[in-house]
Amino acid sequence: TRNTSKYKRVMLKISGEALMGDQGFGLHPPTVERIAREVQKVQEMGVEICMVIGGGNIFRGLQGSAQGMERTTADYMGMLATVMNALGMQAALEALGLHTRVISAITMNEVAEPYIRRRAVRHLEKKRICIFAAGTGNPYFTTDTAATLRANEMACEAIFMGKNGVDGVYDKDPKTNADAKRYENISYDEVLSKHLKVMDASAIALARDNDLPLIVFSLDEPGGFRTILEGHGTYTTVS
Ligand code: UDP
Repeated sequence: TRNTSKYKRVMLKISGEALMGDQGFGLHPPTVERIAREVQKVQEMGVEICMVIGGGNIFRGLQGSAQGMERTTADYMGMLATVMNALGMQAALEALGLHTRVISAITMNEVAEPYIRRRAVRHLEKKRICIFAAGTGNPYFTTDTAATLRANEMACEAIFMGKNGVDGVYDKDPKTNADAKRYENISYDEVLSKHLKVMDASAIALARDNDLPLIVFSLDEPGGFRTILEGHGTYTTVS
């Protein structure tokens, strides 16, 4: 297939909540399937795809530690939650006939491949979708940082942050402020100084220090991910 996108290799980051639909918890199979179709439309363009999925629909380390659990233990539970989400997404992508690998930052060879950078690059070259699971493998980090780290390691040209209910970065919360303004472009430093909720601060800084653009867009529009890769649609670029 001829690649009609201006990107050759991209990272798609979605939160765990993106998979739960209106259930309030866990994975909602029709929602997972819908996102898988969005990814399929981009894969058909010949774009090489990396994915990182959060775990907040199942477990968040900060919540666990707020309830008295040791922070590191709670964070490991959060990382394991991302593995469950990755397997759910893999199943949905494979049901569409796509080739995928789940690559885990925490070794669990029976379930997922261990992370070996050169091997992951090879999968991408063979057009396999790589789902990077278990975050960075370290407590005190987030999957935003994991997405930024892996995007750098895989030489992705940008990170696409697929959001629910919002189509970019706004100066205030568009859900509660009718006059909220969407940025077309914004700098990393402005996102940090204005405390805009795009990614956590360490992930933003890691993207900034490596000149990795972030593209914040909505996952709600059918075909929206592909539309943006073709250079249309509404989104915010952080660069
Ligand atoms: N986590 C971690 N290290 C990482 C990535 C994730 O400890 O490198 C843990 C952390 O506890 C976090 C949880 O996994 O709360 C789920 O990830 P995240 O909150 O980023 O998920 P999202 O908000 O994107 O659904």
